[in-house]
Amino acid sequence: MSAQSTITYDNEFVQVGDSAIAGWRVDMPEGKRLPTLSGNCPHCQHDCDYPVPEEVLQGGTKSAGGNERPPQLTRLVTCNCRAGHNRPGGVMLGCGRYWLALLTKNGASYDLSVQRDLGMLPAAEALADAQATQNARVHGAAEKWIGGISAVYSLFSLAGVATAKNALDGLSSGQRWLVAAAMLAGVAAAGTALFLGYLAAYGWVRMVAVGDDEKLRLWHTDEGAYAARAARQLSWAIYAAFGSLAAITIMMMLVWFLPRAP
Ligand SMILES: [Zn+2]
Ligand SMILES: [Zn+2]
Repeated sequence: MSAQSTITYDNEFVQVGDSAIAGWRVDMPEGKRLPTLSGNCPHCQHDCDYPVPEEVLQGGTKSAGGNERPPQLTRLVTCNCRAGHNRPGGVMLGCGRYWLALLTKNGASYDLSVQRDLGMLPAAEALADAQATQNARVHGAAEKWIGGISAVYSLFSLAGVATAKNALDGLSSGQRWLVAAAMLAGVAAAGTALFLGYLAAYGWVRMVAVGDDEKLRLWHTDEGAYAARAARQLSWAIYAAFGSLAAITIMMMLVWFLPRAP
């Protein structure tokens, strides 16, 4: 067993010099906007490769992709060697060490160096973490949204009061329009309440671009703003739920009390 294989796994940031990554290669895969980096882990010296991701699941910045190659980007490169490092359960690869890479555009490819501005470290760490968990997160959110989608269909039972057989017999067409308007308002408000409530709880699932440092920063800021946004969505969901209750109550009153032709 070589000395490097006895390194025990530990998820930590390592500060490296440019000489430690001098042997790293930057390859531009066919049809990709961003390169794949490969070389020896500066800590355990085993082979690693890292395709630079362009997108991450969830968040608030709207753009997806874009075709321009960003002039500069910072990424956290985590060791993903295959050697044994006494890894904890659930971790398949690497010795756990990560470093901060800076890619600077040079013609059709990129130059690789060590990012010394550690201001990007929190955003890059958050991105690596989000990328590692995104499959589980999209799966969890999908399961929960299915509940929301079936709840949308159950809203139709609210309309039952007005759509039951003979419920509107004897009402003039003007009166029927009144009942219909109250019903529509009630169902629309209930749907809005449900949607906003789910949005607050589970977020809107989508991929967002993190293809350059500015987008990465925006994504990270937006993740941080989650609590404030969710609180706002939840309060609107509650207003809409009460609005829906009021509209459905008005609809029932109309069905019961509107004067009918004999
Ligand atoms: Zn290793
Ligand atoms: Zn390593």
